[in-house]
Amino acid sequence: MTDISKTIFLTMDTDWADDDVLLDSLTLIDELQVPVTIFITHETKLLGVMRDHPLIRLGIHPNFYPLLQNHADRDYLSVIGEIKKIVPEAVSARSHGLIDSTAILEAFKAQGITRDLNLFIPFSSGIELKPFRHFCGLLRIPYFYEDDAYCSENAGETASAHILSSGNGLKVFNFHPIHLFLNTENMNRYLDAKPFQREYSQLIKHVNRNQQIGARAFLKQVVECGRENYFAFDHVENL
Ligand SMILES: [Zn+2]
Repeated sequence: MTDISKTIFLTMDTDWADDDVLLDSLTLIDELQVPVTIFITHETKLLGVMRDHPLIRLGIHPNFYPLLQNHADRDYLSVIGEIKKIVPEAVSARSHGLIDSTAILEAFKAQGITRDLNLFIPFSSGIELKPFRHFCGLLRIPYFYEDDAYCSENAGETASAHILSSGNGLKVFNFHPIHLFLNTENMNRYLDAKPFQREYSQLIKHVNRNQQIGARAFLKQVVECGRENYFAFDHVENL
């Protein structure tokens, strides 16, 4: 049984990252040697690499935004069905933009999903988190760090504070390949880089080289602090 007070869980949402950007995250996982659950948005030739990787589990990251914007050539069931076809082995789900409803959770369950991570409750809330069972049967796994949201916080707490000052609470972190690549420390960096997401030679000029502040630096600090303080690293699928 996982001791959640002494375990760190790392996740990523691919958010249609270009293969060069996604590959950078996979290289980082190899470098850090930590388990990560990657929530998939799209078909990529790197899917096989991720699937065969001993440190990686794959979840689904369905995009319901087009439905909210009334691009209604599809419905939520087909959105889930299409992404589940790309990642049939997925047992975990997080909606892009955290779009959530009872109907969505029930549809996840019907598609073989056993846990969802649609609840973001930041560390700054001071709420001690734990997984809990939704009445439809899914295990809900709240998470307390998200790289882009952290950029928008004034004076967000350090990686060490997230780990050492969250008591017995669940410690789930979420990153995006683009923010790991750019080492995003504020959203303007991302917005400036966004037009070049598919042009590696241009994109790389937008990387934040500060080793202390940014999404990539934060992930490294999480791993370093976790190891120094004898935390285990595990997949959310083991909760
Ligand atoms: Zn997303």
